[in-house]
Amino acid sequence: MDGDLALCAGRQAEFRQVGRARRDGTPYSTPSSHVLSGDLEGSTSCQDLSGQGSTRLPDQRSEKASDVRKIIHVDMDAFFAAVEQRDHPELRGQPVIVGGDPGGRGVVATCSYEARRFGIHSAMTAARARSLCPQAIFLRPRMEAYREVSRQVMGILRCYTPLVEPLSLDEAFLDVTAATADGVLAVQIAREIRARIERETGLTASAGVSYNKLLAKLASDWRKPNGLFVVPPERGLAFLAPLSVGKLHGVGPATVKKLLSMEIHTVLDLRNASREALIAQFGKAGLWFYEIARGIDLRPVQPSHQRKSVGTERTFPKNLADPQVMLATLQQMAGQVAARLQVLGLAGRTVSIKARFPDFATITRAHTDAQTIWRTEAISACLPGLLAKAIPAGLPVHASVRLLGVAVSGLVNVEAVPPDTGQMNLLEDAVDLR
Ligand SMILES: [Mg+2]
Repeated sequence: MDGDLALCAGRQAEFRQVGRARRDGTPYSTPSSHVLSGDLEGSTSCQDLSGQGSTRLPDQRSEKASDVRKIIHVDMDAFFAAVEQRDHPELRGQPVIVGGDPGGRGVVATCSYEARRFGIHSAMTAARARSLCPQAIFLRPRMEAYREVSRQVMGILRCYTPLVEPLSLDEAFLDVTAATADGVLAVQIAREIRARIERETGLTASAGVSYNKLLAKLASDWRKPNGLFVVPPERGLAFLAPLSVGKLHGVGPATVKKLLSMEIHTVLDLRNASREALIAQFGKAGLWFYEIARGIDLRPVQPSHQRKSVGTERTFPKNLADPQVMLATLQQMAGQVAARLQVLGLAGRTVSIKARFPDFATITRAHTDAQTIWRTEAISACLPGLLAKAIPAGLPVHASVRLLGVAVSGLVNVEAVPPDTGQMNLLEDAVDLR
């Protein structure tokens, strides 16, 4: 991918200086120092802080620095597997797979980078992983250990801003706009966070810094593992242009297929499609695609106390027509939503489902309970009734769905969720669900 980017010799020289400062142990205590100029403030470069080069392209927008948000996405590297390798030194350097039983229907939850070299990845069946790498070491997840590290990591993140939005046990968005108002740079915060995580947990995290969630998340993935990457506003469009559309948030396999049939492969292709064409093809989602192709993503970072709902949704490569399959899919999502509620320390009173039909018409159906809901069982119990309301028998137009979603809203904070009662074990169970 680097081949697409013009190198900037000046910035590279500057980077080398950063590298020297780092080796000398010089602290990054002066935010105005040139060594931090890869940050979002007034910079025209996109620095690769992992030492693999830097890039520069002409300014493409002239937003005032004060209008620009500073978003960091932090993502632990191969999280479950890394915790196992940390706690069991004999596993270091080995292909380690945390997940379900390779002899059964289990799936890979996380695998070490050594295992990834064999083509193994998350969500692959454990049986397939074993056939790719027979010598791999298979471990069952130890969720309590991972939750403990997660609490530590989220605690570190909250030292820098109250605006921390965990996405799962091992990744979160931070909005550090306010923290940077007095001249501290977002990249400095990201660098410090990575160092603290490593020092305090013995594990590495990658971080991306940019002006919205879409780009911060793509940036954290850019130099994984153990990387830091910054996409300043003037670099956003060029950074996105060569990426395949499937990398974009909200673009699932079904959408990718449809986009490919429209000869849209890269984000640049998507940018060249007209707004009208995208809306005609994808409805409201088309508008989202139109905007993200231009690096526009106004979604706020939502800390759990401001959050209105916790949910998940999935677009299917082939429309689902069998109500039994729809229900099973919704129940699987209920487990994911319950796990997410646990991470966020939340519970709710309303369970809703969302269904999108082949004509892109979208409906939601909700059930509000007198009890607070946070366990999978409780969410699941609402699903048959909601599905029956969403897909009434005898309506052929809406008999199949291209998307389903489950959400819990009416949220309240759960002060103390007992760690080992049912709910969180669902994360373990989820490993064997597929
Ligand atoms: Mg991760």
